Amino acid sequence: MHYKTIRELSKGLRDKEFSATELSQHFLNRIKKLDPKINSYITVTEELAMNQAGAADKLLQGGNSNLLTGIPLAQKDLFCTKGVKTSCASKMLDNFISPYDATVIEKFNQAGAIMLGKSNMDEFAMGSSNENSYYGAVHNPWDLKTVPGGSSGGAAAIVAAGFAAGATGTDTGGSIRQPAAFCGISGIKPTYGRVSRFGMIAFASSLDQAGPMAKSADDLAIMLNAMAGFDDKDSTSVNKEVPDYTKDLDNKLDNLTIGLPKEYFQDGLHPEINKAIELAISEYKKLGVNFKEISLPNTSYAPSTYYIVAPAEASANLSRFDGVRFGYRCENPISLTDLYERSRAEGFGREVQNRILIGTYVLSAGFYDAYYKKAQQVRNLISRDFMQAFEEVDLILAPTTPTPAFGINEKKDPVSMYLNDIYTIAASLAGLPAMSIPCGLVENKPVGMQLIGKHFNESKLLNVAHKYQQITDWHTKIPTGLEA
Ligand code: GLN
Repeated sequence: MHYKTIRELSKGLRDKEFSATELSQHFLNRIKKLDPKINSYITVTEELAMNQAGAADKLLQGGNSNLLTGIPLAQKDLFCTKGVKTSCASKMLDNFISPYDATVIEKFNQAGAIMLGKSNMDEFAMGSSNENSYYGAVHNPWDLKTVPGGSSGGAAAIVAAGFAAGATGTDTGGSIRQPAAFCGISGIKPTYGRVSRFGMIAFASSLDQAGPMAKSADDLAIMLNAMAGFDDKDSTSVNKEVPDYTKDLDNKLDNLTIGLPKEYFQDGLHPEINKAIELAISEYKKLGVNFKEISLPNTSYAPSTYYIVAPAEASANLSRFDGVRFGYRCENPISLTDLYERSRAEGFGREVQNRILIGTYVLSAGFYDAYYKKAQQVRNLISRDFMQAFEEVDLILAPTTPTPAFGINEKKDPVSMYLNDIYTIAASLAGLPAMSIPCGLVENKPVGMQLIGKHFNESKLLNVAHKYQQITDWHTKIPTGLEA
């Protein structure tokens, strides 16, 4: 039951093979039994889930349901959830019970979906391995000695381990796509502005975007239907009609031209991942897709640009955590300055403090022009590369990560960790929709391929991913040995 897709579970609920209550209970039992090995949940909301499941059963009985009614999901712990701890995996917010729901949470509630709990993540979504959580590292269900990726590592591990039917993630520079690749699942980062950021604890506001993580492109479409849309509570949310993302999944691909950016296939890419992508390309050729080599010449500047822009925005966003209004407060402060300093020093983890320091540095009067302003200019060049490429091709195919999942504690210096996002960061800087789907196993671990589309072209990405999943079975592979 726990490895079924959302589409299959939804049918099971309608056909009365099982009730929403039974379904949630099944997942909760599985989490209780097996999550101690994975550490994918920070909070399991059993009581809330059972109440929501009871309500969903009533909707289902009344014939008043949609595809998400009664479907058990996990929500990343940076979405504010009313009455439930919302920690962002930080000691700073370990005691924070949100007084309101994020828009994304509200939308899932309206659809009648069930929240099983809040997923583990890198603290304030900063990381690529989920080792930066106050609640401990998450283990990859495919190999417990390896990381699940980050920052939505808990979410990816949850879907891969069958601890929920789908999960939400957020992606600032790759945090949906990279963990999806490492855990053998599908994930999409929508166009910036497509999904409301209201109630999502901010990391880098011009980059953060929420999206779904699930077992198939079809399931992503079902979840994105609920998540997407204009929200007047988020000033960067775009007022543009939301298509039915499930509608175009089966469209033919024979008029399509996919670009292969040569900069994404150079040194550093694991040869077996390269091979897996070549095989995927030959599958697409069978479907009539044309391929064309393209160039995105400013790609190599993407990580350095991102690691200026993102920390700059983070340093501003995180200034609200001062020990005064909410969150962690140090004991016995001797002055107001001492209260600020010690609350932040004790409440934030090391990576978060590093980023705040980098961010304040690049924004400071003497360095603003040299770093922050320059990074914004390069960000424009990176966006322009994509716009030029999209004059020749409909979408872009590339690897998601240079390697399969690496070991827990393996990467010790921050730069080698940052380079993990080399293929995902550019699309984030350009605000483009991008997704990762499984396309092979390397060293017995899943790897992913990335599809990058034009702004608001999520339907096309999902269509292209779905067609591939109709003729291949990488997305149906499940980790073995978890039960042992
Ligand atoms: N790994 C990147 C970082 O550490 C991206 C994180 C994200 O997308 N939230 O910032």
